[in-house]
Amino acid sequence: MEPGSDVKTTPRGFHCSLCNVNVPNKASLEEHVKGRKHQTLSTVRATRKSQEQHSVFVSGIKPDISQADLSEYFQQFGPVADVIMDKDRGVYAIVQFSEMESIQTALSHVEHRMKGLKLRVKPREKKDFKLIPKKKHDYENLQQVLERLKPELCQRACVNGQMQCVVERFQLGENEKKARGLLIQLLQEVFTEFFPDSQMLPFGSSVNTFDIHTCDLDLFLDLENTKVFQARAKSTTEQAGEGTSDDGRSEDSILSDIDLSTASPAEVLDLVAAILRRCVPSVHKVQVVSSARLPVVKFHHRELNLQGDITINNRLAVRNTRFLQLCSGTEARLRPLVYTIRHWAKVKHLAGNPSGAGPLLNNYALTLLVIFFLQNCDPPVLPTVDQLKDMACEEEECVIEGWNCTFPSQPIAVPPSKNTQDLCVLLAGFFSFYAQFDFAGSVISLREGRALPITDFLSQSKDEAVMEEEQPTKVHHHSPKLGPLNLLDPFELTHNVAGNLTERSQHSFQKECQEAEKYCRSLQYQRKSTKGKSWGLVRLFTPHDEVQCHKTQQGAAGKELTISVPFKPALLPEVLRNQLHMAGDSFRLLWFQRVCSAVERVFQDVLKCSPTLSTDTVFTEDSGISAAEVMETSLTDLNTSANDGSDGVVSSSEASPLAPAVVGAKRPLSSGSDTSLSPHGKKPRLASKASPDWPVWTWIQRHIVWAGRRKTRRELVKEVDSKPEGSNMELECQVTEHIIAKEPEVKDPLEFKVQPQLVGETESTRAVLKFQASDKTGHFQDFFHFLEAFLPKMVETLLEREV
Ligand code: ATP
Ligand code: MG
Repeated sequence: MEPGSDVKTTPRGFHCSLCNVNVPNKASLEEHVKGRKHQTLSTVRATRKSQEQHSVFVSGIKPDISQADLSEYFQQFGPVADVIMDKDRGVYAIVQFSEMESIQTALSHVEHRMKGLKLRVKPREKKDFKLIPKKKHDYENLQQVLERLKPELCQRACVNGQMQCVVERFQLGENEKKARGLLIQLLQEVFTEFFPDSQMLPFGSSVNTFDIHTCDLDLFLDLENTKVFQARAKSTTEQAGEGTSDDGRSEDSILSDIDLSTASPAEVLDLVAAILRRCVPSVHKVQVVSSARLPVVKFHHRELNLQGDITINNRLAVRNTRFLQLCSGTEARLRPLVYTIRHWAKVKHLAGNPSGAGPLLNNYALTLLVIFFLQNCDPPVLPTVDQLKDMACEEEECVIEGWNCTFPSQPIAVPPSKNTQDLCVLLAGFFSFYAQFDFAGSVISLREGRALPITDFLSQSKDEAVMEEEQPTKVHHHSPKLGPLNLLDPFELTHNVAGNLTERSQHSFQKECQEAEKYCRSLQYQRKSTKGKSWGLVRLFTPHDEVQCHKTQQGAAGKELTISVPFKPALLPEVLRNQLHMAGDSFRLLWFQRVCSAVERVFQDVLKCSPTLSTDTVFTEDSGISAAEVMETSLTDLNTSANDGSDGVVSSSEASPLAPAVVGAKRPLSSGSDTSLSPHGKKPRLASKASPDWPVWTWIQRHIVWAGRRKTRRELVKEVDSKPEGSNMELECQVTEHIIAKEPEVKDPLEFKVQPQLVGETESTRAVLKFQASDKTGHFQDFFHFLEAFLPKMVETLLEREV
């Protein structure tokens, strides 16, 4: 890093000018600097700088001058690495040499003459490397959209009318649809030339009834029939000798170069890209993205200003598009709901990853969340996928890649819903449903129309391993990738369609649902303003403006000192996953006990804090965490279920010596011995809903163990440690010991209290640690900032290795 140039101190922490981000403390700054964005931008900057230092600017050329001409001419001054031309105008070029010395040689040459032209050769201008934020453009567009939409929305009589208005304004017009249809037809014709009997099938938003003006064109190139054709043609050719095929189709087509029965998807996609580039007019920016979950060829159509994606092996997507069409046809309220929620999510930066990949929900996942909510209304607005399967007739049976994708082909086969709630109520219901949803602790199943307990998925890896051992030849479906939001595809039941989400993006989604829920309770949402003020959807669609950002920052400055440790089942060791699986409904409490035990070890063993006796059992003021959020499962329940013959569940003798006994001793904090570290041998009461009563730790820290850790760690490992801070318990203990050995004790030891609480069921499962300290010296603020990143990471490390 070059902290001097990239990182500046600000009143609220640090600002990285390279990436244009703010971070609150040193620990986050270190994380940021090691992170992908900063690393990538540093590399790009270094490459650009090197290119700049190796190249000259050449003008005075004409459009008929080629790269090769320039390369040949400039070779006389030294080896040429690259020539970049201004293709559209043909007036200038950048010539990049392999060696820096060549620049001087070229610049000192008196006159540059080439093919009758007099070239001007100048040094490259030195430009500062600047990140141009892409989002700003989107953001401005969204603001413009809202500005245009606002008067119309405000004029409508009710929220229902506003939602209909959103559909009318965003959906594709007839001409746009026609243009897309013509492009598909053209592509079909071209591709048939190369892939006889192939089919170009649209899927996704162009055809799933949730189309908007800017939506991409998703296409599936179905080559099944081409394979059959090719196999037939091959055998005919073999019988008749070389030459013509039976139907006279060209035997010298590109296809003859590739055998579809053996070609890899990458080879086929390369061919698709070549056809697009060479044979389809107006198509440009063709690019094969083989790193995607489903490799894809991306292209852009100039005249239609349309982004297109072509995939192969994507039959399931065509089928799930049909499913969305069916839901839309069955239930007229779905379209306005999806349009409204998609737009809200876009404005709030919750959905729509600009480059396809990213940590936000994609529109498909978001639509499934809407459908799941509608399945869970009372009475349901939409049936479950299993119910739809039962409504289908025999001819509609459909299995793709082993997955049952059966549902009726016509909406008429689905009985109408008994639910009569209007759009305004349903929209508010959506926000309220997800505002209180335990994402980390559940797996959303549209198939069954309910949230499945995460514990059902925790011991699957073991079952899978056994199955694979027993039946190695059978195709086994693996369990879904668990993450902060688990949303099973309705058909491919091992695919988590929200598996790309990060803790942060899931948290933002839920936070925004909570905000929206609050707003929907206000009169401003429900009633048209008689004074011409913004109301209903308008306020819901308003992006976070400067004022709001400012407010949030102020709020953050005076915020409660809490640190969350999220439940991340995917990272837990198998033994613990199995124990949680066995614990059933009580899994949260068992996990919480492990977290508390780990937190205790971090304070005591890693950071060398000393426990102190105090009489507190609970923070005096309101904890700030609503009582309803606190888990209600009683410890007795856990005890019972743990003793139900489940040999995988921890018993008091198996638990760590520091945290021996939640299960056996009915205690969420560890407190094994008489010299109990957790508060003084007091047993926590799982108190009444109104007053959660959890014990409080009190710790004393006598050294500034948070400062200079990175440097000390580097000295200890004597090389650059690629692992992030907090991923190695022994190393972190040593770092603390070194700091303590070098630095004297502080005059006023730091005394702080920590109250742990378990949150779940009506919110994402996590352990919330609330801190309190009298910060006379100002040290606590720094220590807390450090803990914000360090503590969750360290707990994660300890949980990962704990068996
Ligand atoms: P838009 O293009 O407006 O963002 P969309 O509905 O077309 O919306 P895309 O993300 O382009 O959404 O996805 C197109 C189609 O690809 C979806 O309709 C779905 O069939 C399939 N798809 C997308 N993401 C997934 C996923 N994570 N898992 C399974 N199928 C997916
Ligand atoms: Mg799409």
